[in-house]
Amino acid sequence: LRVVEHVLAVDVGGTKLSAGVVRDDGRLVERLDAPTLSGRDGDALFGELARLIDGLDEAPGAVAVGVGCGGPMTRGGEAVSPLNIPAWRGFPLRARLASHTGLPTFVDNDAKALALGEGWIGAARGARDFIGMVVSTGVGGGIVLDGRLLDGNAGNAGHVGHMIVEPDGHLCACGARGCLEAEASGTAIAKISGRPASEADAATIARTGTMVGRGIASVANLLDLPLAVVAGSVALGFGAPFFTAAQRELDARCRIEFARGTRVVPAALGDRAPLIGAAQVALSRFA
Ligand SMILES: [Zn+2]
Repeated sequence: LRVVEHVLAVDVGGTKLSAGVVRDDGRLVERLDAPTLSGRDGDALFGELARLIDGLDEAPGAVAVGVGCGGPMTRGGEAVSPLNIPAWRGFPLRARLASHTGLPTFVDNDAKALALGEGWIGAARGARDFIGMVVSTGVGGGIVLDGRLLDGNAGNAGHVGHMIVEPDGHLCACGARGCLEAEASGTAIAKISGRPASEADAATIARTGTMVGRGIASVANLLDLPLAVVAGSVALGFGAPFFTAAQRELDARCRIEFARGTRVVPAALGDRAPLIGAAQVALSRFA
């Protein structure tokens, strides 16, 4: 008889909170979702998250909690300040969840979590060197190199959103011009085109793919990684024309021998990706 270990998985996004139970084979056996409260009350928001966790029938026996949360945050999620969640500024998410559940709790950036999940059982399964990206309201990412997720000085390694892809491009919320996030995010697309990304025309879709491909090309040229997995509502909503444009730009920009042939592919885990990635944030600590 084998006791299957499972973990609690939590995803904190600007529009949705999710909690689930994920087994050590990657199977998501239960999930609960709720809209992210938009008020300024940080404790009320945490209460909503706690209510979701407490509602999970399969939770008993879980050995840890893994969390993906929007950035920025201090290392390990000790103080999170998700851009899209004004109620949390320096919120002690890891400590609050550990206290609520009584379990070891591990927090990381949501895009880094997604990269872990795709590398575990998704489109980058078995790959030792790849970048996982999210192109949705914002643009984020996580890099796995030599089989290891990169953290960096403050835990933000892989945040491709602020790579410069147009030197004199649009003004980014960060203050720079031509960041990938200022050219290719859903927010940027709406601002530039005057229409939401869901109503983008063919030219906008192709341009967005080109910008994302340009960013990936620099990553591939810098880090010698042959694969990019792209998730997020904008990228996946645009679909094939987006990925074709991104691949074409990659082929044009990755010319040094080791970077030639770098591929960009859609993420495979769909709407399960955030929770499966969050689970891996915890499970990777036990490996
Ligand atoms: Zn920026």
